[in-house]
Parts: sequence; C-alpha cells; structure tokens
Amino acid sequence: VCTARGADMIVDMLHTNVGEAVDEASARQRDHRYVWHPWSPVKETVGDAPILVSGEGYRVRDAAGREYLDAMASAMNSSCGYAHPALIAAAERQLSLLPHFDLSVGTHLPVGRVAERISGLLPDGLGRTLFVNSGSEATEAAVRIAHGYWRNLGRPRDRIITFAAGYHGTTLVAQHLSGLPTNVTHTLDPFPVTRVELPVPARELRAPESLAPLVEAFERAVLDGAPPAAVFVEAFLNVGGGVVLPSGFLRALRELCDRTGALLVLDEVFCGFGRTGRVFGFDHEGITPDLVTMSKGLSGGYVPFAALSTTEAVYRSFAADPLIGGLRYGHTTGGHAVACAVALAVLDVLEERKLVPAAAARGEELLAGLLPLAEHPEVADVRGLGLVATVECHRPEFAAGLVARARERGTLLRRQGCSVMAIPPLVIDRAGVAELVRTTGKALEDH
Ligand code: PLP
Repeated sequence: VCTARGADMIVDMLHTNVGEAVDEASARQRDHRYVWHPWSPVKETVGDAPILVSGEGYRVRDAAGREYLDAMASAMNSSCGYAHPALIAAAERQLSLLPHFDLSVGTHLPVGRVAERISGLLPDGLGRTLFVNSGSEATEAAVRIAHGYWRNLGRPRDRIITFAAGYHGTTLVAQHLSGLPTNVTHTLDPFPVTRVELPVPARELRAPESLAPLVEAFERAVLDGAPPAAVFVEAFLNVGGGVVLPSGFLRALRELCDRTGALLVLDEVFCGFGRTGRVFGFDHEGITPDLVTMSKGLSGGYVPFAALSTTEAVYRSFAADPLIGGLRYGHTTGGHAVACAVALAVLDVLEERKLVPAAAARGEELLAGLLPLAEHPEVADVRGLGLVATVECHRPEFAAGLVARARERGTLLRRQGCSVMAIPPLVIDRAGVAELVRTTGKALEDH
C-alpha cells in the first residue's frame, strides 16, 4: 500500500538518487549554520542557492527536484559529465584493491599508468610527472621547481612573470602570482613577481593587431630587471574574464623564453583535456612548454587530482639538492591511487567518445548561437574558444542578474566580474547547446 507520505518519500529518494530522503529546509539551515563557503560573502540569511543532490550527463538536480543544465561544469571541471558508469567503476575497483600508498617510499600501479598516458598526450620531451591534489598545489610545485631548477644550476633566479589578470589558485604562492583585485591580499612578498597588464581591453585582445603590443609588454617585463626564473601563463585567461589571447602570442613567448633562458610554464588547469577544443590550450600554437600544470578536466570533478609535467633536464637537475638529492616537496595524498584510476578512466572516455573534437564542434555551435547577443545594449562583447563562451556585460550587476534569470530558467551559468561564462561538460550534445543558447538569450531579453 502506497500512502501519500510514502509516495513523497519515493519521489525524494528518486531526487537524491542515494536512497536518502531530503528535507530541503533543514539541509539549508544546517549549511547556513555550519559551512564556510569558499569565495563567498558572509551571509546573515539562509540563501536560495540550489542544494544539489544528483546529476546525470550535463544536468544536475536539486533537493526540490528541479533540474538544471550545468553550464558551469561544476567547478569548471566536469569533462565526462555526471554519473558516468566507467568513472564510478574505476574508483570502486581501485578503492577495493588499494586506496593509496605513499609515493615517497613506494609506488602503486595506476600512478605509472596515468603518468605514461599524460606524457603520451603532451609534446615530446615532457615525460616526467609529479602528482598533487589541486590546481593551486600544482602552481605551488611549479614555482618551487622553477626556483629550485635555477638554484640547482648554481645560478639562482627567483623572479616570475605573469599576467596581472591571470589566475593560478589560492595557496600563498599561487595567489601571489595574480594581480586580480580579489587575489591581492598579499601580506607577505615571498618572491618577486612582474604582473603584466593587458595593453588593450580584454574584448580587443584576440584581434591580430593586439599581438605586437602584448608581446612587447611581456618583452619589457622579461628584459627589465633581474633575469626571470619563469614566465607563467594560461593559454586562455579564465577567471580573468574569459579572455582569448591573440594567435601567435604563445609562440612569441616561447621564443622570448628561449632567448632569455626563462622556463615557460603553461597553466593548463582550466584548458587541459579538451576544454578549448584541443587536448591542451597551448596545442593551438604548436609549442612545447618547459612545465605544464593540469587538474580540472583530468579527473572530471570525480576526485581531487592535479599534476605537473616537465622535462628530464628539469627533473635531473634536482639530483644536485644537497639534502636529499631530489625535490623536497609532496603531499600525503598526492598521486592518490583512486584519483589515478579515475583519471585513467577519464582519458579512456575522452578518447572513446572523441570528446576533444566534440568540444571544438559544440563550441562552434555555442559561440555562433551566442554571437547575436552582442547587439544587446548591456553586452560589451561575446567571445569564445572551444567549449567556453563569454558574454561580457558592461556592468557586473547586470551580469549577476543575467546569471540569476538563467538559473530561474533552469541553466547554471558562471560569472567572473562583468563576464558571464558558459562552460558546459564536454559531453553536452547539440540539443543541450541549443537549449543553453535559447535560455541565455531569453534571460537577456527578460531584463
Ligand atoms: N589555475 C587555473 C587556470 C584555474 O582556473 C584554477 C582554478 O580555477 C587554478 C589554477 C586553481 O586550481 P584549484 O582551485 O584546484 O586550486
């Protein structure tokens, strides 16, 4: 006999997908009372952010049973989408075999396998990989490695060149690299950083005429002052506002680094593993960096995971360390076996479902669909690269309103300042892209 209450509970269980009934109001109160949310204002009232309980493909479902098209790809890291059976099976299998073992004293099977796979995707010469747990830790490790490399050679260099609008994470070292106003909380100055400002507004940067002033700005930064240890950049400025760089820029940076000896570090935490329609963002320019950091798309949001790959020359230089003859850096769960197993499954899914070319094709559809929105008086620019599209508004309040109205219509968009960004999981299909374009357009008209 199915009572009314019983029927409600069955519906709830369907919503959560985990066999646990959800009391939305008390879940919201509990969260409000106990959770400190990162990058969020302190709140005096219980907010109305969706309490997400399950997902499938490119959609997520909240405790009230509402479905959303997730054009935030979770934390911009859902590549294969939600509830992917192969990723779940890979995690379960490794959990039951061996969750992890300390890589500073031993090893396990998945770490070697995933390091080999990553090196096969990178250009020749980048065959040595260190594993950590987050993009910020990969940045932290990359800066320490760049500094250590020069120390190992007996010619210490510590200055790092970055984009002022770059974003590389929030450990002390990672935050120090950025000049974004939200990141400038520097109370310590651990090493010199030269942060290059964009020579033209973000919306003009992708134009071929912007290449020369941008390269000149980096040349000045590299040549004025102490020789830098590294130039540290993203191939697409994500948190900095969805900024597309002019074609030829990374090739010019490669040449500048070759001339001055500075290591070229590419932060592929956001771009890596298909987001821009190529495996890595720098693949658009055919260059080989000296160090590459990666995270988000590599484990698709299923487990925390990040990596840093470099050359044998950089790796071997650490034999000169006077204390241990190697890198004095690592984390308890770096290269966690479950994370490695999931990443291997992600790489299989990317390959089998051809998600990298799919991201390029869906990205073209997305950008073509959103481009007409540039006519709206509140919109300053519409641009994109691969499967990430940016609708830059003139006012941050308008951008926030657009995101809120899209959410009411069942689509989760991301806001970075004035920029509204559509970043769906790579598994989104044509119908999903059409829906995303339609809802964003309607949310703009609703104003
Ligand atoms: N680098 C880039 C380009 C990022 O987009 C991010 C996160 O958004 C990070 C580094 C930091 O990664 P995490 O948040 O995993 O520390």
